Amino acid sequence: MKTPHFAIIGAGTAGLATAILLAREGNNVTIFEQVDELSPVGAGLLLQPAGLAVFEHLGVLDEALTLGAKVTGLEGQLPDKRLLVNSHYHEASTNLYGLGIHRSTLCHVLTQKLSQYSSHITWRMNHTIERLEEHPNEIRLFGFNQNQKFDDCFDAVLIANGARSQLRPKAWVKVDQAYPWGAAWSIVPECLALNPQILHQFYDRSKIMMGILPTGAIPSEPEQRLASVFWSLPTAQLPTFLKDEQSKQTWLNQVSERWPDVAEWLKQILYNNQIQPKWLSAQYRDVVMTQFGQGRIGVIGDAAHAMSPQLGQGANMALLDAWAFSQSLQLAQKNQNIDWSLLWQHYHQHRRSSTQFYQFLSRLLTPLYQSDHWWAGGLRDLVFPWMYQIPYFRKEMAITVSGLKTGPFQQLDYQKIAQYCEKENVLNSKSESLPDY
Ligand SMILES: Cc1cc2nc3c(=O)[nH]c(=O)nc-3n(C[C@H](O)[C@H](O)[C@H](O)COP(=O)(O)OP(=O)(O)OC[C@H]3O[C@@H](n4cnc5c(N)ncnc54)[C@H](O)[C@@H]3O)c2cc1C
Repeated sequence: MKTPHFAIIGAGTAGLATAILLAREGNNVTIFEQVDELSPVGAGLLLQPAGLAVFEHLGVLDEALTLGAKVTGLEGQLPDKRLLVNSHYHEASTNLYGLGIHRSTLCHVLTQKLSQYSSHITWRMNHTIERLEEHPNEIRLFGFNQNQKFDDCFDAVLIANGARSQLRPKAWVKVDQAYPWGAAWSIVPECLALNPQILHQFYDRSKIMMGILPTGAIPSEPEQRLASVFWSLPTAQLPTFLKDEQSKQTWLNQVSERWPDVAEWLKQILYNNQIQPKWLSAQYRDVVMTQFGQGRIGVIGDAAHAMSPQLGQGANMALLDAWAFSQSLQLAQKNQNIDWSLLWQHYHQHRRSSTQFYQFLSRLLTPLYQSDHWWAGGLRDLVFPWMYQIPYFRKEMAITVSGLKTGPFQQLDYQKIAQYCEKENVLNSKSESLPDY
């Protein structure tokens, strides 16, 4: 059999992780990325244990740990100092933890790993893909590079070009809409007044929410520990956030009335000429698909299932997609051929229920933190403290945050994802019966 050649569109978390796994198994991969240099900007993010299991499988966990910030749990405070959310990974399983990481660090760790398989990788930076055509034995991609049109053929394509993808097959898209709320965010030096192993959140009803996430260091400045600050806002208000002195004062007063210690820290940052933090906006999309792949076309990462980052699962899901795709490919690569229908059957078996579970929960919970509904925050403040008193719910909440859930009563096995033995890492599921979709 000739070595399969995959095209991956988009060098984000999903695209890079998948490229490593495909190249490691001896496949050829061409990565198309629209920007001319990978220098990811964006708020830091929290990799949950499920994502870290994939990191272990990829062989990049140790490197990520040297730069990122180990996070042991999530604490969400109300204005009266009560903890509304108090979830710690050890409640799910003793050895679990999360990792706050800067996007450029995440990209650095993945591209470093990818460079080990360079003979199987072709980079096409500054190449934007506009459309694709599926033929019986190949996929043809059409795009442009510096105003020059090009087209190229591959055995299969993975669309990993993020939440705003225009390439995912329209017939598979059930929902594709913007959220009415987003967040302003900035990267700042770590807050020494707060526990550096905790993602801290602050809420007042469903209208005010702030997050402070330790994200560790970036490769070029390994000594400087950083944090990402998030401030939730309706999208219409994002462009004017902190644009003048008056709005800075109003914001600091809003925080100070509720959480004075944090306001003091923010004040020092805002008025420190050496730091001068830049505030940027993040807007979210909700994307639901009826299927993630068929034949020679697959959709992974945010392109397949973008959602509000309320549960902090997007990058984890992208990593789990990469893992599930490589497992499914190995299973379907039999008798000198790839059985595409078996591949997608297996992939959907792994990814559909988990994705549905987190998308459902994200839709349910997001309005409790980010909406104008008068009842949302009150309902949340009544129900959550009650739930946290019951050990069963505390544990379930920790497993959910860990990204390991595949349904209300099922979960993934961290070790099964993390393990990697060369040429023997196909899941022992070849004899399992596969459900029909
Ligand atoms: C404020 C905020 C906080 C978040 N916090 C968390 C968190 O704590 N934990 C977590 O797990 N997730 C978090 N997320 C979600 C996470 O960032 C995403 O889920 C994840 O980055 C998705 O990765 P991806 O590879 O699918 O897409 P992306 O990272 O968007 O990558 C897509 C790539 O495709 C390229 N591209 C686009 N179109 C084309 C084209 N036509 N041709 C070629 N290239 C193209 C883009 O340039 C880009 O490089 C957060 C998101 C936001 C906005």
